[in-house]
Amino acid sequence: MSHHYVVIAEARGGQLRQVSLEAVKAAQLSANEGDAISALILGHHLAEEARQLSLYISGQVHVVDHADLEHYSAECYCSAMLPLLESLQPCGIVLGHTAMGRDLAPLLAAHLQAGQISDVTSIHRSGSEVLYTRPIYAGKAFEQKRFTAAPHILTIRPNNIPPAAEAESPGQIVQHAYTAPANLRTVIKDVITKASGRVDLSEAQIVVSGGRGVKSAEGFQPLEQLAEVLGGAVGASRGACDAGYCDYALQIGQTGKVVTPQIYIACGISGAIQHLAGMSQSRIIIAINKDPEAPIFKIADYGIVGDLFEVLPLLTEEFRKALA
Ligand SMILES: Cc1cc2nc3c(=O)[nH]c(=O)nc-3n(C[C@H](O)[C@H](O)[C@H](O)COP(=O)(O)OP(=O)(O)OC[C@H]3O[C@@H](n4cnc5c(N)ncnc54)[C@H](O)[C@@H]3O)c2cc1C
Repeated sequence: MSHHYVVIAEARGGQLRQVSLEAVKAAQLSANEGDAISALILGHHLAEEARQLSLYISGQVHVVDHADLEHYSAECYCSAMLPLLESLQPCGIVLGHTAMGRDLAPLLAAHLQAGQISDVTSIHRSGSEVLYTRPIYAGKAFEQKRFTAAPHILTIRPNNIPPAAEAESPGQIVQHAYTAPANLRTVIKDVITKASGRVDLSEAQIVVSGGRGVKSAEGFQPLEQLAEVLGGAVGASRGACDAGYCDYALQIGQTGKVVTPQIYIACGISGAIQHLAGMSQSRIIIAINKDPEAPIFKIADYGIVGDLFEVLPLLTEEFRKALA
């Protein structure tokens, strides 16, 4: 087993995902001095993403660029990655705790007989040991874990570990061929996205979230306006999704997305424990609610007791002026 870390990077819409640079940093924090760090990226038309990645990796950037890999599929990606990983023999593999990372990491761990620590939010060294902290019980407690053997696999929660700085000299891009295995049991025929070109919710630095207090689909407009001015994303509670005010793709919480933005603005959200599970690690929480007893105020750094339909336009206007 080499002293070598491999970061499995992700691209979306022609851009390298921010979490991939955080994964590079996680590999740097895990590696001992002298350990090599390389990266692996799969997809189609990856020239720009590979170039971006090479700026942060001093080792090799392995690229598998093929039309069959345009969309993530566990079977295809795993079949493309395994031969490479088996030849690289890394002691550690780092992925983002994203939809892809959550699916792929345990599959790779099973194939490579690797240990896995998931959803890591911080990494510390204690002597020669590397300790990984991850939230448990829906964010009510944290546990610290360490690996006792190699190889090991790590998934990191987006927006928690700082991104890697640019390397002193760019890494070397190495292209690899891909031939689809003849015995694939599933293939993706088509992907129909609901994407709107907005900021990705799970990586957004600012999230403006609406709950049942938003009252209707149109009620989300003031939230969208504030998010636009702040360059943030719009999220929602399950209450708002269940009421049909917005798409379930926006749901934050125990059964939705987990977000850790710099600023989370909860509008008309009561603060149920299942909602907190998806946002309580946000750096600054601002709550707008007309009920001063709403539980969301217990975890909010700043609270505004008032009607969101009066407060939001005022905030949007002030931010528009301040950011002009
Ligand atoms: C197994 C399970 C999983 C769940 N998973 C999730 C999950 O992933 N995410 C999630 O969010 N929930 C989840 N829930 C649901 C959760 O328990 C709550 O029911 C839900 O979060 C409530 O949504 P809400 O805060 O929008 O609505 P409510 O609890 O109805 O709160 C609405 C709030 O809006 C305020 N309000 C009303 N009008 C205004 C106004 N004009 N201006 C300002 N404030 C106003 C009210 O004072 C109130 O506090 C789950 C529940 C279960 C059982």
